[in-house]
Amino acid sequence: QRNIAVMTSGGDAPGMNANVRAVIRTAIFRGSRAFAIYEGYTGLVRGGPEYIREMHWHDVRGWLAEGGTNIGTARCKEFRERAGRLQACFNLISAGIDALVVCGGDGSLTGADLFRAEWPSLVEELASSGKISADQATQYATLNICGTVGSIDNDMASTDATIGAYSSLARICQAIDYIDATANSHQRAFVVEVMGRHCGWLALMAGIATNADYIFIPEKPASKKDWEDHMCGIVGKHRKRGKRKTIVIVAEGAISNDLKPITCKDVLKVLVDRLGLDTRITTLGHVQRGGTAVAYDRILATRQGVAAVDAVLAGNADTPSPMIAVAENKIVSRPLVDAVRLTKQVAEAIENRDFAKAISLRDAEFNE
Ligand code: ADP
Repeated sequence: QRNIAVMTSGGDAPGMNANVRAVIRTAIFRGSRAFAIYEGYTGLVRGGPEYIREMHWHDVRGWLAEGGTNIGTARCKEFRERAGRLQACFNLISAGIDALVVCGGDGSLTGADLFRAEWPSLVEELASSGKISADQATQYATLNICGTVGSIDNDMASTDATIGAYSSLARICQAIDYIDATANSHQRAFVVEVMGRHCGWLALMAGIATNADYIFIPEKPASKKDWEDHMCGIVGKHRKRGKRKTIVIVAEGAISNDLKPITCKDVLKVLVDRLGLDTRITTLGHVQRGGTAVAYDRILATRQGVAAVDAVLAGNADTPSPMIAVAENKIVSRPLVDAVRLTKQVAEAIENRDFAKAISLRDAEFNE
């Protein structure tokens, strides 16, 4: 029998509840005890019965479809420091937990991977300072950690889809459908800002799914002159053909190749000045995170929750921590450390405007 804990961390995403539910119920079904760590790494660092609670089958009843995360999430500065992770190690051992499933984005999984790598030295330090007994040090010599990826941005390397991305996409499409009606009525243009700092997946997919006229994503920068001419050419052509509305989608991380962000205001100004369009801006903001999880996310989160428990039950100290992914519709397990490294490399390449490198890293991943 194992004592398996689950937590959610970083930005909330629809489907996290379904993931937590699946982890808890699978753990119980396999004969283990299940625990939830409340409020992300903050709960891990603070510890105690307020934050680390045993969960029973009925505790997660009704969680499958619910958006957000019922066990809370947080951004936790203390966990970034070794002292915070030492305390977290102590709290887990005190609660008798020997396996941890973390559902979060790349930041959370980076933290999880670091925690796993450090674990033996943390245990040693706790034992030598007398905070835990020698028996406890032996019993908790390793911690099985498994990551599941919850993120609306779909920005994690090594997985085709992250939990929450399709729900967020559905919400964006719904919002743009609403905007379409009013845009069409008044022959207006709307510039819609969607989330995605390093990753244009939401903007790109929403563009396809809503028949947007033009999109801006971080991965495809252009000079100011080029994007202005290109966008005005396309939007102007659509208008000449009789289209009564214009939708331009801007990912929040969109940039031009002179290192400047492309903002909705920049786009509005061009549509007004050059095409004379009556133009409005809609920033979707946190609406994109809300609401129930779409069927795809419920299913993905459930399948991944089952796989995560099975991975920690099968895991041993020699194998690197797994991250549960989906590749070509199959639930697979990938080394967490590789996924984290690759995600960071792509984000850094985009931040440094080295798009050729970002694209080749992504291509290499897909050609694996
Ligand atoms: P996300 O998981 O959605 O990418 P963040 O990047 O904010 O969100 O990470 C969530 C939390 O994970 C942080 O507040 C911090 O506690 C932890 N974390 C992130 N990066 C690290 C790191 N390099 N080392 C330790 N902990 C980290």
